[in-house]
Amino acid sequence: MVLTANPKVKARLNHGRWIVDCPLGCNSASLVYPGKPYICGDHYPRVFSDDPGAAADEVARAYELKHVYDVVFPGDKADIERALKSRPLDLQNWFPNGHPLAIEWDLPHGQSPQGLIDEERTHYKKDLVR
Ligand SMILES: [Zn+2]
Repeated sequence: MVLTANPKVKARLNHGRWIVDCPLGCNSASLVYPGKPYICGDHYPRVFSDDPGAAADEVARAYELKHVYDVVFPGDKADIERALKSRPLDLQNWFPNGHPLAIEWDLPHGQSPQGLIDEERTHYKKDLVR
């Protein structure tokens, strides 16, 4: 058996949680964790079933179809989290550069931690400080 690398998918921060949008186009998103692969729970619901055999079969099928992804977190993940932690949860958002949803929704993407701090100063604080 030849081991090949899993395809990669980039994580984004959504309401303070790291998630991946299904790259297969089903519009679902899942929480992701460093070092753990991503499989779409909507495409492969039995992966999360209580039946270990069924779950193993489903995982094998997902690997066969190259639908198991390695999650890529930004190199400055901790700095991004730190830059956003003083915001309310619903404003703790970050997209990797070129993320298709950020482009579609006309939102910033690929922001540096300093860029996030500057954004907060110019956009959010001025509404709070009069
Ligand atoms: Zn999916």
